[in-house]
Amino acid sequence: MPELPEAETIARQLHRELAGKTLGRVALMRPDIVHGDDGLLDSLLPRRRVKRVWRRAKRVQIELTGDVRLVFRLGMTGRLGVGPADLPLEKHTHLRIAVEGTTHELRFCDPRRFGGLWILTARDDDPDGKLGLEPLDATPGQFRAALSRRRQIKALLMDQSAVAGLGNIYCDESLYAARIHPLTRAARLDREAVVRLLRAIKRTLRRAIRFNGSTLMDYRDADGREGSFQKLHRVYQREGHPCRTCRTPIGRILAAGRSTFFCPKCQRRGRSKPLHDCRGSDRMRQR
Ligand SMILES: [Zn+2]
Repeated sequence: MPELPEAETIARQLHRELAGKTLGRVALMRPDIVHGDDGLLDSLLPRRRVKRVWRRAKRVQIELTGDVRLVFRLGMTGRLGVGPADLPLEKHTHLRIAVEGTTHELRFCDPRRFGGLWILTARDDDPDGKLGLEPLDATPGQFRAALSRRRQIKALLMDQSAVAGLGNIYCDESLYAARIHPLTRAARLDREAVVRLLRAIKRTLRRAIRFNGSTLMDYRDADGREGSFQKLHRVYQREGHPCRTCRTPIGRILAAGRSTFFCPKCQRRGRSKPLHDCRGSDRMRQR
């Protein structure tokens, strides 16, 4: 499912395609993807200019003139893209919005329909008012405050009201990079471990964005292409394969109700000190 790097990739691509352009005719095939009044699409959208497209947490937001904002949640299988309007419609395309002065249109497609669209004006509250820290902008102090809870670190990182944008893939990859066991109580991490984890999260997310995200099943970017960061995963869905640092087989446990992949040797429980003696971790650090 799309997480922060995938949503960021789509938002950047849509920004390049749409900023400064004016939206036109709207065709809504599945009104139930719109939260709130779907009549707003027809009454608010046409002839509004796109100011910018940006990401908050795992959502893609299209900001229009006149304080109107389209907030897309991608859910499990949501895809947003701009392409030629005469291209055959992909199955499960629920929304098309023409881009004036071009032969292109914006399309939202979502086979499993866990995603959706909010149309917000200046008066409306954010649909996810309680979104937590943006990890790429967080300072160590803010991050430490967000983690000062007794919950297990994996569960806390997955909780969007604590840290926004991380899901199963990037939690596992970041915890591995920081050498932290996923079941460690967050409040037990010392200052050094918290700093190391924030650094690992930022580095993992930035690398994933550079590789246009991870495609495991459905994810495609706004140009319809697959991401390639899945080729660089070190633990996620690598159960039984040798750890790229110590050759120990990658393990899988349940954490936060989700399959969680980790190295039983590099990420020992209770250890929050860095492995100075570990060649692999030095190699990681140099990247
Ligand atoms: Zn290992």
